[in-house]
Amino acid sequence: MIETIKQIEGNIGFGYDIHQLVPSRKLVIGGIEIDYHLGALAHSDGDVLIHALIDAILTGIGSLDIGSHFPDTDRKYFGIDSTILLSEVMTICHSKGYKINNVSLTVILEEPKLADYIPIMKVKLANLLKVKVSDIGIAAKTNEKLGLAGESKAIIAFAAVSLNKIET
Ligand code: MG
Repeated sequence: MIETIKQIEGNIGFGYDIHQLVPSRKLVIGGIEIDYHLGALAHSDGDVLIHALIDAILTGIGSLDIGSHFPDTDRKYFGIDSTILLSEVMTICHSKGYKINNVSLTVILEEPKLADYIPIMKVKLANLLKVKVSDIGIAAKTNEKLGLAGESKAIIAFAAVSLNKIET
């Protein structure tokens, strides 16, 4: 018996980001402000998780990276809410004929614990990406006190995304 398997054209994308942690800055992760005495040093709001996700989406659709689309030399992006950048990236994504299937995210920071924030991050990202909350996975890990993240000098994020071509 010959089975017909419907083939769906899909792509994957991967992204990474790191920011220094410094005093007197907000800590924003996944579009949510986190209560902590350090924040991300950045031209934008320094949302490391959304920046990694943006690079995953952009590279997954064969586009240029976040720094090419939103240069940190451009004053218009100074202090910008990274969810605005993600919305613009979703417009690019849809205009190229792709939709998000699911995303898998990892954020690495020694403290504070993010468990209480993750459910609201997932809802926020699901709305921005036009996917179900169950299609967003977020792991939060310490770096076991090792290296820059382990010493709370940096926050790091990785993002993987699966994209499908929209059927026309
Ligand atoms: Mg960044």
